[in-house]
Amino acid sequence: QKKASIEYMSRIGSAGGKIPLGLKRKVLRVVVTGGAGFVGSHLVDRLMARGDNVIVVDNFFTGRKENVMHHFSNPNFEMIRHDVVEPILLEVDQIYHLACPASPVHYKFNPVKTIISFSFSQFLNIVVVICCLDLALVLNSSVCGYKTNVVGTLNMLGLAKRVGARFLLTSTSEVYGDPLQHPQVETYWGNVNPIGVRSCYDEGKRTAETLAMDYHRGANVEVRIARIFNTYGPRMCIDDGRVVSNFVAQALRKEPLTVYGDGKQTRSFQFVSDLVEGLMRLMEGEHVGPFNLGNPGEFTMLELAKVVQETIDPNAKIEFRPNTEDDPHKRKPDITKAKELLGWEPKVALRQGLPLMVKDFRQRVFGDQKQESS
Ligand code: NAD
Ligand code: UDP
Ligand code: UDP
Repeated sequence: QKKASIEYMSRIGSAGGKIPLGLKRKVLRVVVTGGAGFVGSHLVDRLMARGDNVIVVDNFFTGRKENVMHHFSNPNFEMIRHDVVEPILLEVDQIYHLACPASPVHYKFNPVKTIISFSFSQFLNIVVVICCLDLALVLNSSVCGYKTNVVGTLNMLGLAKRVGARFLLTSTSEVYGDPLQHPQVETYWGNVNPIGVRSCYDEGKRTAETLAMDYHRGANVEVRIARIFNTYGPRMCIDDGRVVSNFVAQALRKEPLTVYGDGKQTRSFQFVSDLVEGLMRLMEGEHVGPFNLGNPGEFTMLELAKVVQETIDPNAKIEFRPNTEDDPHKRKPDITKAKELLGWEPKVALRQGLPLMVKDFRQRVFGDQKQESS
């Protein structure tokens, strides 16, 4: 592995570490899969600002051209509409692999899911879920998180191996499942239901981590693994069903904030610029990981609703809804490892970051309404 690392560093100049005084860093060719999505587009902005040549590979399942179109006239930028489930040939130095349907609403989207919601016996549920996974694997549609996570990651690792590129996987705190350890440390192996409705995402990402480590150990691919905790910010999909985007859009539209379950479950919310900084430090650094990248500030969903009320509309009502299946009760990252080895920690607190997201949502929500009424 050390040899691969030295070869990589000598090929790309000092891009991976500190640049000696007076020396210019080589311009890197960087692929961002999922680069038209929420996190990916912010990462692309930073890489473009650094002067890299950036190729976005995205099938626009949840991503939007609008997120990156401000780079269209820049010759350093290229956009390829492509599904990572299919192989692709590119010549690059770094691969940020983000492509994946990331919100529960999107990754649970599947024709068979409708049948699941109508089947009442638990036995039938399990059978249907198993069938659903099998079916999704043979269907030529990669909207199922599992296929994108497994076949997509395999293809990107194959690409990294062929061209000697460094490969960063955006894994997730979901690999810890409904954690029995709190806060979660990278050494914790997790508590995941392998046959539940969230499994295509959780188990898909766990398999992606396995593949990354196997290519690292077996084929000397330089890999980096980030375990990302709940992230919010401008450009999030408005109706993707995630809690922060839901609450913000609901408060702006004067609809009640939908709290699932008793609202006592917790999450830790990270602003997107902090995440992007962490991803870049991880890619440039010398440690494989996995690293937790998240903000340790922990909130119950009721506390989050309160912050949204304070930020947007103190009169916003709260409406309780049944919780979704297998919802993790608690989640909070232990970021000691990232602090020590990457020199990284989040800087933006929820009360600072939320108004920045609200500004963007306000424009998009009311812009959309104008379009609908015209
Ligand atoms: P997003 O849905 O906004 O972005 C994902 C992007 O991937 C979209 O542009 C989508 O069109 C693209 N994509 C999906 N399937 C694809 C495929 N088969 N081929 C090509 N492109 C495909 O989600 P995001 O929040 O920006 O998440 C980015 C990454 O970070 C994901 O891998 C996600 O699992 C991970 N992550 C995000 C969070 C979070 O809170 N945002 C938390 C944990 C992990
Ligand atoms: N792959 C790709 N682009 C490349 C190299 C490989 O998409 O530049 C895909 C390839 O089609 C295969 C996967 O990556 O499906 C794994 O490739 P690898 O060479 O590791 O395995 P093999 O092809 O030998 O099974
Ligand atoms: N949630 C909620 N109201 C919503 C959407 C989600 O109370 O409108 C809850 C959900 O049940 C979960 C938490 O918010 O407990 C975070 O959900 P999200 O889908 O944002 O992220 P994840 O579950 O993947 O961490």
